[in-house]
Amino acid sequence: MSFPDVESLLAMISLTSKRSQQFTESVIREMTRLAILHNAVNLSQGFPDYDPPEEMLEAAIRAIREGYNQYAITWGTKNLRQAIAKKTTELQGIPVDPETEITVTCGSTEAMIASLLGIIDPDEEVIIFEPFYENYGPDTILSNATPRYVTLRSPVPVSTGNRKDKGQHWTFDPVELEAAFNVKTKAIILNTPNNPTGKVFTREELESIAKFCQKWDVLAVTDEIYEHILYDGLEHVRMATLPGMQERTITINAISKTYSATGWRVGWAIAPAPITASIRKVHDFLTVGAPHPLQEAAAVALRLPSTYYDKLATDYGNRREFLLNTLLDAGFKCWKPFGAYYIMTDFSEVAEKQGLKGKTDAQFAEWLVREIGVAAVPGSSFYREASLGRSQVRFSFGRKMETLKEAEKRLSRLKR
Ligand code: GLN
Repeated sequence: MSFPDVESLLAMISLTSKRSQQFTESVIREMTRLAILHNAVNLSQGFPDYDPPEEMLEAAIRAIREGYNQYAITWGTKNLRQAIAKKTTELQGIPVDPETEITVTCGSTEAMIASLLGIIDPDEEVIIFEPFYENYGPDTILSNATPRYVTLRSPVPVSTGNRKDKGQHWTFDPVELEAAFNVKTKAIILNTPNNPTGKVFTREELESIAKFCQKWDVLAVTDEIYEHILYDGLEHVRMATLPGMQERTITINAISKTYSATGWRVGWAIAPAPITASIRKVHDFLTVGAPHPLQEAAAVALRLPSTYYDKLATDYGNRREFLLNTLLDAGFKCWKPFGAYYIMTDFSEVAEKQGLKGKTDAQFAEWLVREIGVAAVPGSSFYREASLGRSQVRFSFGRKMETLKEAEKRLSRLKR
C-alpha cells in the first residue's frame, strides 16, 4: 500500500470512533516490542521469563490430547469454577457458589472490562487510585464511565544513603477519598497488592473505602492478581471479607501472575449472582470464552499445596532485594514495594549524571533501552496527568535471577 497523503489520512482517522481516539496503545506492551527490537533485557512489561509449574504444563498437554478442544461453557468449565470456588472459600472463609458467582474470562484484563461494561451506565463515575495500572484508563472510557482520581501519595524513596530502611508506604488522604464519592459514583477500582507502587492496602484503609461504598451504594471492583506476592510478612486483605462488602464487591483474579502463565489468558471475576449474570452476558458476547484446555490445566494449578505460594513469595522477595540494590547502585531512587513485582523509581539523578537532564520519562526509557540495553516502563503511563510521572520509570523483577544479573551488568554502566 502506498503512503496516503495527510488529508486522506485525516479522513480515515475521522472514520474511527471518538471513544478509541481518547486513548493510545499500551505503553507497557510497546516497551516489550522495543526491548525485542534492541535486544535488551526486558524489565518493562510484568510477565515472568520462566514457565508455569510442571503439573500445569502436563495438564494442558493432557487436556489437548484428551479432547478439550471445543468451546467450554461460556462462563467457564465446571472443573475450574469449582477449583476457584474452593480456593477462594478457603482463603476468604466465605462460601463462593461456582454455579452463580464466578465468570471465567480471558485473563483479568477481560474480567475488568466485562465487569465495568456489566455495571456502568453513561454518566456514572468510577473512582481510581493514581498512579494506576494503565488499563483502567481505557477501561473506563470504553465503558462510558467518567473517572475520578484519588492520589496515592509517594513517601520518601529509598536511596543509597538509606538503603537498609524498611521503606515507607504510599498513602491516601481520607478527605480526598471522601470527596471523590457522590451520587453519580458507581464503582471504585482497587488494585491490592498494587501495580505500579507495590502498596498493600491495610485493613483500616479498606475499611475506610468500604464505609463510603456502603454510604453511597457503590461497588468495589478489586483486582487481586498479586494476592500471593507479598513481602515483609504483610497480609493481603480481601475487600469481599469486610462486613457488608461481599454483596457489593467484584473480585478479579487470574492464573497469570500466581502461576506464571500470562500468555494463557485465563482469569475470573467473582461477584454476587445478579451481578455475575450481567458480567456473564457481556463476557459471552465479547469473547465467548477462555481457552478450554487451559482452563482444565488452570484447575490443576489452583489445587497446588500451600507450600507453592510460600515459595513464590520467598523467590520474589529475593528478586526484589536484588533489583532494589541494583537500581540503587545505579543511582535510581526507589519506592520499595511491599507486594506485586514492580519497583517505581525516580531517575532524575541518573539522567543528570548521563547528561540527559530535562529528558521526559519516555525519552529516558527510550535511551535506556537503546543505549544501556534495559527496558523499563515510562512513569507517565500510570498517571492521567503525564507531568506527574515525568521523572519516573517502573522496572519489573518478575524475571529469572540470571536475567536480573544481566540487567545488573548492563545498569552498572550508569555508575560511570
Ligand atoms: N500487568 C502487567 C504490567 O503492568 C502487564 C499486563 C499486560 O500487559 N496485560 O506490566
